[in-house]
Amino acid sequence: MGDVMDKKKITNMEVKRKNRNEVFRYICKQGTVSNPDISYNMKISLPTATQITKELMAEGLLEEKGELQSTGGRRAKALSAVVNARLAVGLDITRNHIALVLTNIVGEILKYERIHQPYVFGEAYYQEVSERLERFLDENDADRDKILGVGISFPGIIDLDKGKITYSHILGIEDMPLDSISAFFSYPCFFLNDANAGAYAEGFHKDEAERFFYLSLSNTVGGAIYSGNELIQGKNFRCGEVGHMTVVMDGEICYCGKKGCLDAYCAAWHLSDAADGKLEQFFCLLDQGDAEAVKIWDSYTDYLAIAVNNIYMLLDCDIVLGGYVGSCMDTHLQELRDKAAGRNTFGEKEPYLKACNYKVAAAALGAALKVIEMFVSQI
Ligand SMILES: [Zn+2]
Repeated sequence: MGDVMDKKKITNMEVKRKNRNEVFRYICKQGTVSNPDISYNMKISLPTATQITKELMAEGLLEEKGELQSTGGRRAKALSAVVNARLAVGLDITRNHIALVLTNIVGEILKYERIHQPYVFGEAYYQEVSERLERFLDENDADRDKILGVGISFPGIIDLDKGKITYSHILGIEDMPLDSISAFFSYPCFFLNDANAGAYAEGFHKDEAERFFYLSLSNTVGGAIYSGNELIQGKNFRCGEVGHMTVVMDGEICYCGKKGCLDAYCAAWHLSDAADGKLEQFFCLLDQGDAEAVKIWDSYTDYLAIAVNNIYMLLDCDIVLGGYVGSCMDTHLQELRDKAAGRNTFGEKEPYLKACNYKVAAAALGAALKVIEMFVSQI
């Protein structure tokens, strides 16, 4: 009997928590609502809605903001989430820079900074990054008590089960325990692969049913599958690593040592190298009709179209182009769509190929949003 009672108690608590969680998410999404609105739209009783919002208010996560004309015509208290009640920091580590983002409970970018800081193997680097992060928080008057944690985007394969970075070619890392990095920070740390982080930022505000592939075209090529408000990780945490998908049999040598990988044709430096290392400059040349830039772009998009069509055939969902190249190529998207369409067996009416929404800060923001989501899912 005792067991049955306990189980029942647990189930009731779970239902209560689920309700609280959904109510809080609903309020965040709507901006300002009243208890009768919550009750009506979420199909819970008015006393339950009132009880939940009372609890959330006691925790400092909700506040009253005047009155609202509610469902049924009566005036009711207007309730809003205290969006800055909790904060999270995103840190994006790349070979030559770090990027820092400060975000709040609804995922707004409160501050963004990108700093030239070449990666150096060893403790001094992480010490320096941690100090930079503290300075960043100081400069933005961030209340340390509100900080939930630091999301760290890393350009490598992160095995969350084993708690280590298994491989990062670009930073020359193998089998590095995550603890050895988090030890330098004063906050709980959460790690994400960079393409996963970018995908997470793109997916954060989407509906649950929406699935998409995020193709990250930076100085290495990566990708991630976002589905059901989550990232698909894969057996070895390598899901979406399309940079090493073969696009040419025995083709160009990839940095991984194999031949014909997508990365060997579509890494961002293939473009930026033709413009003094500046990708924006490359696109200026392209827009001006510079013959060399046009030639390079034509070849680049030939290979990219193969990859895009292959991914599309496999997953049958939208493909979001991110990373350095994805953030710059808005005006050239149609050319790539046309090339990919030429390879598509089925013909498509709706364009499935999209440019990313976050042109800057995507990876840092995505890492920070993961921290926010972990908190919100516990409310
Ligand atoms: Zn490769």
